[in-house]
Amino acid sequence: MTLAPQLTLASRLEILRGVGRERAAQLARLKVFTVEDLLLHRPRRYEDRRHSQAIGQMRVGEPITVRGKVVALGLKRFRKGTQSVFELIVDDGTARLHCRWWNLPYMEKYFRQGDEIFVYGKPIGLKPRTVDHPETEVIESGEDSSIHINRIVPVYPLTEGLPQRWLRGLLWRTLIQAEPLLADPWRALDVGDLPSRAVALRHIHFPDELPQTEKARARLALDEFIALQLAFHQRRRKLETEARGLPCRGDNHLIKPFLHRLGFTLTNAQTRVLREMRHDLAEGPPMRRLVQGDVGSGKTVVAACCALMTMESGFNVLVMAPTEVLAGQHYQTFTRWFGPLGLTVHLQTGATKTLQAADTPRSVPARSADESQAVRPCGSIFIGTHALLSAGFEVKDLGLVIIDEQHKFGVVQREELVRKGRYPHLLIMTATPIPRTLGLTLYGDLDISVIDQMPAARGKIKTFVRAADKQPKVLEFIRKQLEEGRQAYVVYPRVEEADSRAGLKAVMLEFERLQTALAPFRLGMLHGRLRADEKEKTMAAFRANETQVMLATSIIEVGLDIPNATVMLIESAEQFGLAQLHQLRGRIGRGTHDSYCILLADLKTPQARERLKALEESTDGFRIAEADLRLRGPGELLGAQQSGLPSFRFGDLTKDLSLVERARTLAANLLSGKAS
Ligand code: ADP
Ligand code: MG
Repeated sequence: MTLAPQLTLASRLEILRGVGRERAAQLARLKVFTVEDLLLHRPRRYEDRRHSQAIGQMRVGEPITVRGKVVALGLKRFRKGTQSVFELIVDDGTARLHCRWWNLPYMEKYFRQGDEIFVYGKPIGLKPRTVDHPETEVIESGEDSSIHINRIVPVYPLTEGLPQRWLRGLLWRTLIQAEPLLADPWRALDVGDLPSRAVALRHIHFPDELPQTEKARARLALDEFIALQLAFHQRRRKLETEARGLPCRGDNHLIKPFLHRLGFTLTNAQTRVLREMRHDLAEGPPMRRLVQGDVGSGKTVVAACCALMTMESGFNVLVMAPTEVLAGQHYQTFTRWFGPLGLTVHLQTGATKTLQAADTPRSVPARSADESQAVRPCGSIFIGTHALLSAGFEVKDLGLVIIDEQHKFGVVQREELVRKGRYPHLLIMTATPIPRTLGLTLYGDLDISVIDQMPAARGKIKTFVRAADKQPKVLEFIRKQLEEGRQAYVVYPRVEEADSRAGLKAVMLEFERLQTALAPFRLGMLHGRLRADEKEKTMAAFRANETQVMLATSIIEVGLDIPNATVMLIESAEQFGLAQLHQLRGRIGRGTHDSYCILLADLKTPQARERLKALEESTDGFRIAEADLRLRGPGELLGAQQSGLPSFRFGDLTKDLSLVERARTLAANLLSGKAS
């Protein structure tokens, strides 16, 4: 007796009847490898085939499903046979519909006169009634009517050679066959009014009524979110059992003089966050903390204090910034702050290294004998870009890793940096106010501190949206500000496409135009194609007020801090996301003078105006980010691929906040053994 292989959710697809090597390969192209993948293959849309719609009633532009008989069909070639159109005519008794496929001559072989077919498409005209490139399905005789007709049917994403009805049939059979395997993955989970997983899977593919599909989606999304939250909890737990944090709470001998000569007092929010961090650094598992604070809320000084605690304790610190410009700025700031304390600050970017290979950190002892300036042996601090991740770079006695503007890095890079040491503490800073849904999904394994207060004595930022043709007037306004001694940024979106020569040329032209318009004031230019030393020079000149206007790309978006710059002119603002515009605007309003952000935009559509209005009305980064999430989705908000966002089949981060929160509680309950 041979045993049939046992069906499990992890089984490869070939275990299913009717799936051979070829079909399995086609499904693999859809990232469907196992029985479970198949069951989670989400329909693209549904078609209600219980009530047929009449061809005679169709309206231009409104998608419709009809069922009828093929009464004529034929292929026409033209332009000497290089082009073709295949056309068939369907009659459902109320009227005739012309279906056309351009330059797809092989469509001909799928249809015969007299076939019953379903057609789904958007009519482009009614005289005659016509659809181009509709989706079609031929009804086979002897049809199992419960799967493909007389019901709401799923329509799946396909790949070449894979027929819709074959896949639908496979799902139908597999759902029945796998039914015993579809118990809820977590026992005693209170999912409220959501269906069980088995029911959800059935409804997502073969609903009896359409509203069931949304409930089903929510349940499957909830399961995805729970799985993610459990992974976070487990990672946390692993850290707690495997690692003890290095003792880095410090003894105040550096922080005290530092704060004393800083020139301002910390805000209450900054102090509170520091207290939270000191607690983390003192004992227990290594710190894993995210500090969120709107642009300008003063995260750098908080990071500096955290670094000082660690260095007081004799450990070294790494600071990673997303761009060379920002790493350079941090290097300057930290040198200015820490130099007088007798501490060493190193810079390590792709282009600049204050350390030579020979004496790379390996030979920089944390407790060197000649650090006579400090009473006790102190650690050093290394600032850099991704270059810090390079294999050759190692730091002994690494106590703390600080990552600035986390959203520019992926989770993988975060892990790599931490691996440089033996479980160093980790402090992550982000200025993109992350809507809570995303925060819980991206940073579920981190503790979160929020700096929710701006330093006092800041000037106001006023924001204006103007049509692009108002530029001359705006330049006049900028000139007035320059005459009063202020500086200005002009941001131009296309520069980053400066890979294309056209992009670079456009910028050069813009540069010259501005130079003439604003003479005798002087302009600098900053874009991604400059060499690092050129960028550094440009920045230094602007910082020193040798140039008064900085024409730049969005590379200035993160972190730059030049308080005398009070004007931000953004050209073609409609091309930026709201959160990005908010970041750009965060470059001004950093001093005591009032600041002005002017968005020049193509305002032809009311939507464009409406969208930018959010910025005129609010300076609250969280509200703006929420709006951006709704309008453009999480990938765009976070900066796409690098964002480290897990991908969900069913979860939708633009609208599933309550599900994410529910998943978090449920996961916590599961782990604490509380059957909720
Ligand atoms: P961000 O949070 O955007 O990184 P920064 O750390 O660059 O902001 O701080 C913005 C500016 O505010 C800097 O010039 C910084 O020195 C200053 N600053 C930070 N904290 C305070 C404070 N408590 N009072 C006054 N100025 C502050
Ligand atoms: Mg910053």
